Amino acid sequence: MPLPLPHPALAATDPELAALVAAEERLQADTLRLIPSENYVSTAVLEASGTVLQNKYSEGYPGRRYYEGQQVMDQVERLARDRATALFGVDHANVQPYSGSPANLAVYLAFARPGDPVMGMALPMGGHLTHGWGVSATGSWFRGIQYGVRRDTGLIDFDQVRDLALKERPKLIFCGGTALPRTIDFAAFAEIAEESGALLVADVAHIAGLIAGGAHPSPAPHADVISTTTHKTLRGPRGAMLMSRAEHARALDKAVFPGLQGGPHNHTTAAIAVALHEAAQPAFRAYAHAVVANARALAAALSAHGHDLVSGGTDNHLILVDLTAKEVPGKVAAQALDRAGIVVNYNTVPYDPRKPFDPSGIRIGTPSLTSRGLTPEHMPAVAAWIDRAVAAARTGDEDVLARIRTEVADLMAAHPAPGLPTGD
Ligand SMILES: *Cc1c(COP(=O)(O)O)cnc(C)c1O
Repeated sequence: MPLPLPHPALAATDPELAALVAAEERLQADTLRLIPSENYVSTAVLEASGTVLQNKYSEGYPGRRYYEGQQVMDQVERLARDRATALFGVDHANVQPYSGSPANLAVYLAFARPGDPVMGMALPMGGHLTHGWGVSATGSWFRGIQYGVRRDTGLIDFDQVRDLALKERPKLIFCGGTALPRTIDFAAFAEIAEESGALLVADVAHIAGLIAGGAHPSPAPHADVISTTTHKTLRGPRGAMLMSRAEHARALDKAVFPGLQGGPHNHTTAAIAVALHEAAQPAFRAYAHAVVANARALAAALSAHGHDLVSGGTDNHLILVDLTAKEVPGKVAAQALDRAGIVVNYNTVPYDPRKPFDPSGIRIGTPSLTSRGLTPEHMPAVAAWIDRAVAAARTGDEDVLARIRTEVADLMAAHPAPGLPTGD
């Protein structure tokens, strides 16, 4: 059956680019995508992102704009904001940040001055660049103080967090990260922030969808500011939001505009509104819990194959595998898995003796496979593929990788992904 052309105008105007989009669609359809920060958005979210709303300039906020013609855009942005505050149980939401990194920069702009001490988790321990790490503007314009996890448990070292906070008195304490497989204890962070006079920023970029779906505790009762991307587990367009209690609303809004940005990306605001509507439905709660159930099942199956998991397992959507005992560097494993149609990223593990560009681990996540309907019953097969591919990476057996790629494509064909054209 011939495929209906999904982008006929694009194909007619720019066949070269249209062919690249089609190739990426094929790749996303046929491979097992296990990068924990990625997902498949719905066709509705894709359609909202591709609307004429992108033609409009809307500097300012609803009711206070610097351009005329906002009859519709004010309503779109209000809808997105109202849906965000309802879903996350907060007083205020700003839906304009272009992405997670500029959202975090706006938090610094709102509450700190250059040179001030700020605290976050060290990047190699699982933190994010924007939590004060040296190579980021946040680590060169501010004085980054970094905490980590305990060597014996792989869990956040709250004794260290408290000691550093009381000694250094940071303006901001960031919690959350990019490679944390366990539940974040927002109350414990809030207590330390209170004791040390810092504002607590919960950066829930990775787990926002789990929070919205009730599969991870909410930071809303504890954090002064909640920062999140909208495109990871939340399954919306590339974008971000800043949320807070009413007292911080003005400072955050001023920092985003005019402090840091110009006109908001209105098509993205619309797509965020759609994603938040989807996230408020019962089906999204089921998805969020399934993401965690799949991660738990995959972690158990990988452990059964003798894989060493940081912290011993997972509470959320993410698994960090230390491949040291398997005698395969993370990058070699990740590249072999890619050839087998399984897409992960190489990642440092806590106290990694290897270099960040060639670390000991791989990072695996279940949001994308959950969005295409895979269940815990599929996870033993997924773990077996990963285990075989890692072993093949060590021995250089390309035939095994090619066989896995075919098996993966067969399973993917039986579970079409949202937002992608189906058929051959
Ligand atoms: C992904 C992420 C960000 C940054 O988001 P971008 O949209 O890539 O800029 C910030 N913080 C955390 C914890 C993240 O996981």
